[in-house]
Amino acid sequence: MNIVFVASESTPFVKTGGLADVIGSLPQALRKEGNVIDVFLPKYKAIPEEYKQRMESVYRGEISLGWRKQYCGVDTLHLDGINYYFIDNEYYFGRDNIYGYSDDLDEAERFTFFSKAVLEMIPKVIEKVDIIHVHDWQTAMVPVYMEAQYKKEAFYENVKTMFTIHNLKYQGIFSSHLLGDVVELGPEYFHPEALEFHGCINFMKGALVYADIITTVSDAYAKEIQYPFFGEGLDGLLRKRHNDLYGVINGIDTVSYDPASDVSLIEQYRDWSGKYVNKKVLQQLVGLPERQVPMVAMITRLVEQKGLDLVVRVLDELLQDDIQVVILGTGEPKYEQLLSEIASRYSEKFSLQLKFDEAMSRQIYAGADLFLMPSLFEPCGLSQLISFRYQTVPIVRETGGLKDTVQPFNEYTGEGNGFSFMNYNAHDMLHTIRRAISFYQDPQQWEKIVRNGTVHDFSWKQSAKKYRTLYHQLCLREEAVTT
Ligand code: ADP
Repeated sequence: MNIVFVASESTPFVKTGGLADVIGSLPQALRKEGNVIDVFLPKYKAIPEEYKQRMESVYRGEISLGWRKQYCGVDTLHLDGINYYFIDNEYYFGRDNIYGYSDDLDEAERFTFFSKAVLEMIPKVIEKVDIIHVHDWQTAMVPVYMEAQYKKEAFYENVKTMFTIHNLKYQGIFSSHLLGDVVELGPEYFHPEALEFHGCINFMKGALVYADIITTVSDAYAKEIQYPFFGEGLDGLLRKRHNDLYGVINGIDTVSYDPASDVSLIEQYRDWSGKYVNKKVLQQLVGLPERQVPMVAMITRLVEQKGLDLVVRVLDELLQDDIQVVILGTGEPKYEQLLSEIASRYSEKFSLQLKFDEAMSRQIYAGADLFLMPSLFEPCGLSQLISFRYQTVPIVRETGGLKDTVQPFNEYTGEGNGFSFMNYNAHDMLHTIRRAISFYQDPQQWEKIVRNGTVHDFSWKQSAKKYRTLYHQLCLREEAVTT
């Protein structure tokens, strides 16, 4: 099958979070399943020169957006069996950051342009498409435009759309006055069965209404989002579409995330003992004393979702213990300030790294003993999977993909690959961290837990098969319509 991926970020070009990891690795796994995969991305300024120089321009022209025409170029790059197409427009994507231009009109216009440009350019640069698979709110208008306009064209007549929710919290909600001019849809799309959402327009809602199939990134999250607590105001619509909603757990790129060959590490390693050297390297890197004490790490966006309220609530108490803590992340100023204040009082025990740093993140996965993810909700979570790979034991709250991938250790049966707690409660978390550390003090038990984490296959192999089945189901629907 010919599948087109459309997304706003992907490794190795640009990354702000897990979405980039997924778009950078799932196409490879799908290609091995016998599909042809083309990936469309914005041509951001932040893409490293080494890739930009290898791109070839395949189209230059204009597309209309509202009352005006906008330049649109397409550059292509063939990398590891995948064709990447980059939508080029200096005004929208030639900026320093890839997101964060929170001005209502501007952010809506950038990704409206991207979605339209992709649909305009596909027939110009690709021969055949069976399925367009789009990801998160930035590309959610693609299924809407397909319905409103492009399905009428012969090229798109039998093309189906799949929408994957990587995080339901970010929906792309904009004021309704953009519907006519920027989004270029008629008033018939401004009603509760379409894009209207509490008087605004909601891009993600559009995809949930019009995509042929909806997936999200774990079974547990697929169920959770049908309840009001996790549904972000869209649980009713998701319940309505439950027959078209599937959970497919994310995998990770096990070649890139491999401690035996990871070039970001000073010392590559295969077995548990190899972590010892990496811990020392990490302690030097983040300015902590070289001591053999349990080290707890977090690598995360500093936002409410990631359980930061629990962390700031009991970090002082935790730091009374003989441990070290390292947190790498950026995010909301209130968490940056609260954590900085604690870090200033515990400089011998707690290192706070307020930045986005891929190489440092890998050294942390390798050097830490425990990885903390006390998320309020978590669609899938990749960090716990990466932790398994680097023989670092996760401590998680039982929600979404964390619940699906981390089994709490049972000392009586020897089963379990991590530690978990259920209630969103700071002292439950603290108790669980201390329990995990008590097992860390027993090398035999610890080795067992670490081994339980490494034996499971967290690559894309199984999930790529699930996607393939869903793609086939979609194509069969197509036959049913055309015969
Ligand atoms: P989310 O996509 O919600 O942010 P995930 O757990 O799915 O969370 O994925 C996060 C990804 O981003 C992981 O690969 C993680 O290592 C990486 N990451 C998060 N924060 C940073 C940071 N400050 N520096 C480097 N990598 C980071």
